[in-house]
Amino acid sequence: MADYSKLNPDSKVVAVGRPEKSADAALNPSIELTSTFVGGGEKGYGRYGNNTWSYLEEAISALEGGKTLTFASGMAAVTSVFSLFKRAIVVTSESGYTGTLRVLKQRIDAGDFEVRYVNISNLDEVKAALVGADLLWIESPTNPALEVGDLPKIIKAAKDAGVFVAADNTFSTGLIQQPLALGADISMNSATKFLSGHSDALLGSLSTNSDEIYNRLKEIRSLGGAIPGPFEAWLVLRGIRTLAVRIEKSERSTLEIAKRLAKHPAVENVRYPGLESDPAHQVAKSFMKGFGSVLSFEVKAGPEAADKICSSTKLITFATSLGGVETLWERRQRWGSESPKISNSLVRLSVGIENQGDLWADIEQALSSY
Ligand code: PLP
Repeated sequence: MADYSKLNPDSKVVAVGRPEKSADAALNPSIELTSTFVGGGEKGYGRYGNNTWSYLEEAISALEGGKTLTFASGMAAVTSVFSLFKRAIVVTSESGYTGTLRVLKQRIDAGDFEVRYVNISNLDEVKAALVGADLLWIESPTNPALEVGDLPKIIKAAKDAGVFVAADNTFSTGLIQQPLALGADISMNSATKFLSGHSDALLGSLSTNSDEIYNRLKEIRSLGGAIPGPFEAWLVLRGIRTLAVRIEKSERSTLEIAKRLAKHPAVENVRYPGLESDPAHQVAKSFMKGFGSVLSFEVKAGPEAADKICSSTKLITFATSLGGVETLWERRQRWGSESPKISNSLVRLSVGIENQGDLWADIEQALSSY
């Protein structure tokens, strides 16, 4: 096996996760469509392993560090981490991804978890909440509030306090920040988003440096059955090859759009850590290698106007999700399940790789009546 460990991450994502090079070997892995394997080997059955998953897991590990397991979706990965704990005091963001918050609520209702909700941009508040806790579930930047936690300081404080740390790295990916290198026990990705990059597959991943955690999670996946489809794994691997160029282009556009939105009279409270005026900018700059390509803002005229704006663009699609080549936006509270911390008029914009001028023209015409 060639050693790619010294390469930069943007080279690694192209080089890693491929069959061994030899005359006439395929450059790309095939989609291994089989539910079982001839006996006598390590895998044995399709729920325990699959070569297409393994190639993808190698590529995600090249980004995140550690060893990786892939799951049927981001939420399958999230719930697998929570199933490591029968009972726990959990510290988490008050404005993170609604799906995760709802699963935590189920565990609270079942009497398993006590959850301490914190503002992750307030280091002292996070540190105080960590005392006596078992698990820190940290999403940074948060979806959709775009709050940023000081990950190096927060993860260190948690580990010093003996707290298990799992980080949701979906908004950044290992190209921008590497929670494992900062001491986290697990780094999670909804690979549905940036890793796949084409809004055509659902998949999740968990990376860890610990063999013990890896083995426990592997058992949870094998028995729980939340395994990815081989085709989805192949699609995500294909998407990862272009992660660096996609992020580079969409980040440039996001910063420009954020600046323009911040000056627009119909808009308030633009949140993007790349904006110099953003409250999270200095902290984000101190450890992140980029700022991602999701931003949020509030429509001054209120939620109805926000809904009309989101459905009046031609190039930008009114749709949920993020991290794809296509620019998408939506008013998050339309679902009725967001944290009450999220403004009713907040719009989340995921910037894709279209022409920046075309994107702005589309946004400007949609905002023009407000
Ligand atoms: N974490 C974050 C930050 C997300 O944005 C999402 C989905 O939007 C998830 C987890 C869940 O991932 P999936 O939709 O792949 O289950």
